[in-house]
Amino acid sequence: MQLSIKDFRNIEVDGELVLLSSMDQVNAIAAGALIEAKPVVRNAEIITWKEFISGIEPPVFLGLHCGFPLRGGWWPIYLLQQEQSYIRVHLERIVCESCGWSGRSANPVVGQLYDGSADPVYARQRGFALPTIKCQKCSSKLPRPSVWVEG
Ligand SMILES: [Zn+2]
Repeated sequence: MQLSIKDFRNIEVDGELVLLSSMDQVNAIAAGALIEAKPVVRNAEIITWKEFISGIEPPVFLGLHCGFPLRGGWWPIYLLQQEQSYIRVHLERIVCESCGWSGRSANPVVGQLYDGSADPVYARQRGFALPTIKCQKCSSKLPRPSVWVEG
């Protein structure tokens, strides 16, 4: 199956085109659909990527971007919406070292997130400048920078 960029909701994040994917599109990609004749890298895992963000508020979106052109294909990426803009985030499960709380967290400073940005160094610095949050249970510093954790 062939999909076109026009089939997706197109947004621009840090100067790079990102395609926001619906569940139907995710299913098509998992079944091997190409986008503009290019594959989605590790496409079989894409359903897991989509399921990992279910129920998150404010919503985290699953996007596809090209990253470094030489890497070929489309790469999945998570985007957290903050007011009118989208922030690239690495979504991961973390554990608070003080109280043992565990949950999903959005980390904006993982370097590869910014591959494909118009200015990756600047975009990552902006990620570092975002206000981070503490453990929602005990207010301790979390083991990694986080701009969102589940309640
Ligand atoms: Zn804690």
